Amino acid sequence: MEGIMKPEPVAGEGSGELQRDLEALVPGGVYRDVPLSRVSRWRVGGPARLVVAPGTISQVQRVMAYVSSRGLPYVVLGSSTNLLFADEGLEVLAIHIGARLGGFRVEGARVWSEAGIWVPAFARQLARAGLSGAEHTCGIPGTLGGLICMNGGSQRKGIGDRVIDVTSVTKTGEKRVRTREECGFQYRRSIFQGLGEIIVGARFRFVAGPSPSSVRKEMLTILGERRRKFPRKVPNCGSVFVSNPAMYAQYGPPGAVIERCGLKGMRLGGAMISPLHANFIVNQDQARAADILTLIGVARRTVRERTGYDMAAEVCYVSPIGEITPAHLKAEALCVPESVSEVNGADPKPVPGLNQ
Ligand SMILES: Cc1cc2nc3c(=O)[nH]c(=O)nc-3n(C[C@H](O)[C@H](O)[C@H](O)COP(=O)(O)OP(=O)(O)OC[C@H]3O[C@@H](n4cnc5c(N)ncnc54)[C@H](O)[C@@H]3O)c2cc1C
Repeated sequence: MEGIMKPEPVAGEGSGELQRDLEALVPGGVYRDVPLSRVSRWRVGGPARLVVAPGTISQVQRVMAYVSSRGLPYVVLGSSTNLLFADEGLEVLAIHIGARLGGFRVEGARVWSEAGIWVPAFARQLARAGLSGAEHTCGIPGTLGGLICMNGGSQRKGIGDRVIDVTSVTKTGEKRVRTREECGFQYRRSIFQGLGEIIVGARFRFVAGPSPSSVRKEMLTILGERRRKFPRKVPNCGSVFVSNPAMYAQYGPPGAVIERCGLKGMRLGGAMISPLHANFIVNQDQARAADILTLIGVARRTVRERTGYDMAAEVCYVSPIGEITPAHLKAEALCVPESVSEVNGADPKPVPGLNQ
């Protein structure tokens, strides 16, 4: 999966019909036994049995037509910056949209970009063209396809705000263009979640900034703030929980509430609720997916007990059979320790303003 690691393509290594067929559809773009612990931002996960990384939109169409004609299960991956993979790995075919699909074109204030472009590179290209409107995305790791799917952004903005339309490839391999309204963008949500289509590109409308240097200056300010606030040196997946508006109004954002519950620095196995920002879980030392899920479950249950509010996870869990679900749903299904004091580093002090 290029850009993150460079395994050798597996052409000709004779491991079955599926691999040979995919290799014929996407020459040089098929990978076998990719260690997800080296690919995912959390550095967690067993091997992905087979990964195909199309380099053109027509290759995406051909792969989807093939997969649908065989009724094969598959999962779509960008840069895996928002995903928690199972320790067992991934049994189903992974279709990776990455740097091989990274075309970008500016026409006045309109931009067409393919979905595999790296988001900070997309933001830099916009700055170079003096276009304003996506500065908030400049520090978000991941591909543009992943960003659109998650309607990602920062400073309470989402990329969907600037979309004219999104082009995807359907399960049966046809191209489909949806207007912004049809994409159903909401806070960190879009219709593409769970749809099974592959986003291959999008058109955007930005506004001409005063100058390329002013757009760049704004981006540098945003990057500086992110560097100060967020853990950077230890593997993590960004914010774990999405903000719950009602909880926000009464108690504040998830990080502040988790911190006030005394959970900052809580450790389980190799995973830890970041001592820098409590809405981040960091992989301190060879964490397993189960460690991270348990911490998600403990944080969620403690916050529910103290505030009455449920926090939903922004990060998603990918099961070995390729089901992608918000990670808190998987965490709920696990056996979470009854008492937070059963987990190392828990400091559940009484907190003024929160129910005890
Ligand atoms: C350090 C750090 C900081 C972060 N900060 C932010 C932030 O400020 N704001 C924010 O919103 N997010 C943030 N994130 C989360 C993450 O970067 C974004 O959600 C990102 O846009 C996901 O892109 P990706 O390519 O990695 O997608 P992945 O993690 O690979 O996938 C995420 C989802 O998108 C789907 N998907 C991916 N590509 C496609 C495609 N081409 N077509 C259809 N579906 C697709 C996947 O199936 C999956 O459901 C952060 C993550 C990290 C590690």
